[in-house]
Amino acid sequence: MKIFVFPEVYQGEVKEISFEILGLAQEIKEKTGGDLHVLLAGKGVKEFVPQFGLADKILLLDNEKLEGVSPFIYQNILFQVLKDRAPELILFGHTSIGMDLAGFVALKLNFPMVAFCKNVKAENGHLMATSLICGGKILADVKIKDNKGVCLVLPGSYPAEKGKVEGTKEVEELSLSEIEEKIKFERFIIPEVEDIDITKENILVAVGRGIQNQENLEVVEELAQALGGALAASRPVVDQGWLPLTRVVGRSGKSVKPKLYLSLGISGAPEHVEGMKDAGLIIAINTDPNAPIFQTAHYGVVGDIFDIVPALVEEIKARK
Ligand SMILES: Cc1cc2nc3c(=O)[nH]c(=O)nc-3n(C[C@H](O)[C@H](O)[C@H](O)COP(=O)(O)OP(=O)(O)OC[C@H]3O[C@@H](n4cnc5c(N)ncnc54)[C@H](O)[C@@H]3O)c2cc1C
Repeated sequence: MKIFVFPEVYQGEVKEISFEILGLAQEIKEKTGGDLHVLLAGKGVKEFVPQFGLADKILLLDNEKLEGVSPFIYQNILFQVLKDRAPELILFGHTSIGMDLAGFVALKLNFPMVAFCKNVKAENGHLMATSLICGGKILADVKIKDNKGVCLVLPGSYPAEKGKVEGTKEVEELSLSEIEEKIKFERFIIPEVEDIDITKENILVAVGRGIQNQENLEVVEELAQALGGALAASRPVVDQGWLPLTRVVGRSGKSVKPKLYLSLGISGAPEHVEGMKDAGLIIAINTDPNAPIFQTAHYGVVGDIFDIVPALVEEIKARK
């Protein structure tokens, strides 16, 4: 399969989503064979070439005029580059940049497009994608017609580490002929951070329905603070509106890999476990000795979080 990846490089760095989709592309390539191409375009992007060691070929377009990420210009560049190269799968991050570009590319190439992808894979000769729709309540498995498509992959769906391979195999330098500047890049306006990114935290205190109500979150918040970590949650906690959507761990949320994952009042449904099973150390507290989470946890405590958590906070504070 001929796979093209569009990394996001701006403000002097390669964004994490680029490595996430690169790792995913490599996974697909390992199954299907073929080539993995990266289209690296922007002003001053040449210096980032060695970060894309997984790419069989880097199509490099380093040009003064490509300041910022102006959608109109990039849409046209992408189409010009891709149209004669027989792409089969084109991967973007499901970000504001990816959303600006993917639809145009799909339309121009007459490819189907799948947005909100949690998963893209090659299975039994078919290209499949799992798309998270209705705010994460439904996971739709789709078969991509003729094995040719454009996919927008949700950030946090794949570990970035897999894509971080240094080295350079082949670079093809492209030149920019005419660019029509219908839209001119002015400046970046960085939105205020709305919430933390749980995929980047070393310590997660994850809370489930066992917490009973929003007011009780105070107890676990205190533990997270004492440990220097952050709160994550199972799906029902977020569906109740007790914590923001950004905190969900699992199939319809984020995949996390912290050093410590403290699971409090979470049963351990497969949809949840999928997103946290790779954590370094998993400790679960649950009143039910038969809760499935104990099969995933390295250490388990059969007990009530309302007894154990306050005692734990006290102990941590005392030791500090
Ligand atoms: C398409 C789809 C996608 C989904 N995606 C996700 C996802 O991304 N993430 C996710 O988490 N879920 C997801 N789910 C939901 C998943 O199937 C489970 O319903 C959910 O994970 C259960 O959450 P929970 O463990 O918090 O609640 P429950 O299953 O209700 O478990 C609560 C646990 O708390 C324990 N408990 C109760 N009181 C206490 C106490 N005082 N002290 C200690 N323990 C206590 C109970 O014994 C129980 O084990 C998805 C479901 C579907 C259908």
